[in-house]
Amino acid sequence: MPIANCKRCGRLFNRVRRDICPACVAEEDKAFETVRQYLREHRDATMAEVSEETGVGVDLIIAMIQDGRLMLRDNPNLHYPCERCGQPTRAGRYCPRCTKELSASLSAAARDLRKKAQEMERGQGYYSR
Ligand SMILES: [Zn+2]
Ligand SMILES: [Zn+2]
Repeated sequence: MPIANCKRCGRLFNRVRRDICPACVAEEDKAFETVRQYLREHRDATMAEVSEETGVGVDLIIAMIQDGRLMLRDNPNLHYPCERCGQPTRAGRYCPRCTKELSASLSAAARDLRKKAQEMERGQGYYSR
């Protein structure tokens, strides 16, 4: 059984599938339940209010949303900055616009790679640059 340091509290533990120890998992589960309950009762709460009222750190709340555990469908005032442009977003790491742009540039990069591979196969690309 692999032994690892918990990423959250630093304690050694038998690593099963997550990089935090069982005690921290239990704590996060409790935090998650607290936040979810609070959101159900306070639909128009903001991020600062939720964190203050539940005692759960903003970082952890955002991580739960990014994981897809916490859904913001009914909470219009809850959002956090996109990791790319800083615009408010409500799911994942990026706002919808950046998600679209990133996936477009990713597929463009994939197209480029494919083209290069084909050129190499034909024995051309080698001389072209
Ligand atoms: Zn821990
Ligand atoms: Zn963005």
